[in-house]
Amino acid sequence: MVTDVVISGAGPNGLMLACELSLAGAHPLVVERLPERTLENRANGLVGQVVRMLDRRGLYERLTGTTDPPAPTPGFVFGAMPLNLSALENNPLHTLLVPQRRVEQMLEERAIELGVEIRRGQEVTGFTQHEDRVAIEVSGTAGPYRIEARYLVGADGGHSITRKIAQIAFPGVTVDHTISRTAHAKVPAELVDPADGGLNVPGYGPIPPLLHHRTEHGMFVYAPLPSSPWPLIATTEWGQEDAEGPLTIPELRASIRRVLGADIELGPPEGEGPHLRRKLTGGNTRLAERFRDRRVLLVGDAAHVHSAIGGPGLNLGLQDAVNLGWKLAAVISGRAEESLLDTYETERRPVAERVIMSTRAQAALIAPGSEVTGLRALFAELLADPGNLRRIADLMSGNDIGYAAGDHPLVGRWAPDLILDDGVRLAELTRDARPLLIDFTGGHWGRPQTKGRSAVPCTALLVRPDGYVAWATDVPQPDEKSRASLEAALARWSLTFTVAQP
Ligand SMILES: Cc1cc2nc3c(=O)[nH]c(=O)nc-3n(C[C@H](O)[C@H](O)[C@H](O)COP(=O)(O)OP(=O)(O)OC[C@H]3O[C@@H](n4cnc5c(N)ncnc54)[C@H](O)[C@@H]3O)c2cc1C
Repeated sequence: MVTDVVISGAGPNGLMLACELSLAGAHPLVVERLPERTLENRANGLVGQVVRMLDRRGLYERLTGTTDPPAPTPGFVFGAMPLNLSALENNPLHTLLVPQRRVEQMLEERAIELGVEIRRGQEVTGFTQHEDRVAIEVSGTAGPYRIEARYLVGADGGHSITRKIAQIAFPGVTVDHTISRTAHAKVPAELVDPADGGLNVPGYGPIPPLLHHRTEHGMFVYAPLPSSPWPLIATTEWGQEDAEGPLTIPELRASIRRVLGADIELGPPEGEGPHLRRKLTGGNTRLAERFRDRRVLLVGDAAHVHSAIGGPGLNLGLQDAVNLGWKLAAVISGRAEESLLDTYETERRPVAERVIMSTRAQAALIAPGSEVTGLRALFAELLADPGNLRRIADLMSGNDIGYAAGDHPLVGRWAPDLILDDGVRLAELTRDARPLLIDFTGGHWGRPQTKGRSAVPCTALLVRPDGYVAWATDVPQPDEKSRASLEAALARWSLTFTVAQP
């Protein structure tokens, strides 16, 4: 038997891809090396358009327990520079404080619900590409075996074996002069500011919660998170010798003294964990030379790694998965030519490049030294201009992504969060990941239609399964040209649409 798609790795991006493929009618099989879901604490939150994307699949509701749409965040940080977004019209930046392990649990449950098989404790060890399939070597608890699949997707993280065996280079840089220390720790209750939940550090002053706080000697974060009764405390320093052994609370306290020039009496957290203790030296910024080699594709960290500053990783990776899922399913079903897969890289590589640019710029802004202090003062002046503030918010959210341009300015853009006549949100109509035609003309596009009521600068639009606009028009009634452009868009993306019918 030949499986449609084998996904190597049940991290967030592999699981998201499995859900998307299933929704689009393909049959993925996920192979995961770990016998159980990891308890490792990586992402503490989702930042950017990914929050709205999850809403469009009904997954935001599963994470938050609310049917309300996600609301934009009034404030955030870029390179430890505070961003006051509350006055920004149509603020595009959404965030969701949720630990990565919860996201993975939710995606795994959803994948299983959709009928996806997940084989844990099984490791992809090799593969051979044939013209019509890939023969994948797997090492399982009962010994090695082989799976034949039409496609193999490497969602197996930054050290991706899939990428290595496909001989796809991973050029970039490794920085080894920073040390980041992160731990759950106890802080004296009297230091916590009841007004904003931040810290009042004796001899230093107030430090707001959750935000990166830069000094000329390093960076400090105080993050009381809903996922633990103990706050996460983190420092980053430049040019320090690595202390031997795993991180200890006294070591973190000494690091805080160096960064802030003031002491915080830290204690170990009490009770059941998991309590995080992490020491990371340096980091990698790398981008795969190609995202595809014939029948093998890469998503998420397998395709790109970068600093975690600003939390862009899952915004990038989960949307890679959503971009690839419907295209791969269409090719597997024979509805689309294989060339549709080329658009995965043409669309997603520039997004990864922008994330790399953004994280590098932020790393420069948090570095120590008086020159950087000068740069930050200038940057603060620039951020006082709402146009610049919007640009940064667009960059962090991914709201500035424009895929293929078309006749209409909406083409290639994220479809606006429309509310239709009956109060139904667009996000409620896209949960099955089907393409959707929304007609504001009252049925002129020839099928039962839903009239819109939000202010939208078009009379009809076609939304791709990943939530981006494939086609839009301003004409009040279909004419030859607009019909032809709709047909061309349907052909280009190999789509047959359903019409919004709430
Ligand atoms: C300290 C830290 C903090 C971060 N904070 C944030 C944040 O706040 N927000 C954010 O959005 N992102 C954050 N990130 C980034 C985010 O964690 C990653 O982008 C994300 O985990 C990538 O997901 P993935 O599915 O691509 O890969 P991974 O999560 O690495 O998953 C890969 C999976 O593949 C499995 N695997 C590997 N090799 C094989 C094999 N040969 N066979 C089978 N299975 C295999 C692994 O066991 C693993 O389960 C952070 C990262 C770090 C390190």
